[in-house]
Amino acid sequence: MTDKTGALRTRTEETPTTWQCLTCHFEVVDRMLPRKCPRCGASRVKFVEVGAQAENEA
Ligand SMILES: [Zn+2]
Repeated sequence: MTDKTGALRTRTEETPTTWQCLTCHFEVVDRMLPRKCPRCGASRVKFVEVGAQAENEA
């Protein structure tokens, strides 16, 4: 599903990221870090990025 070549500059905005709540382990797939957990209501500081690709980022 990588037919969107040439959009590397907007990668962080175009590519959904999986965030996991450390409190209840609920996973949210969104482009932006959730403001709070929809399940337990934990603030977004409780979210970590899941399955981060080993891409060459500066
Ligand atoms: Zn939660």
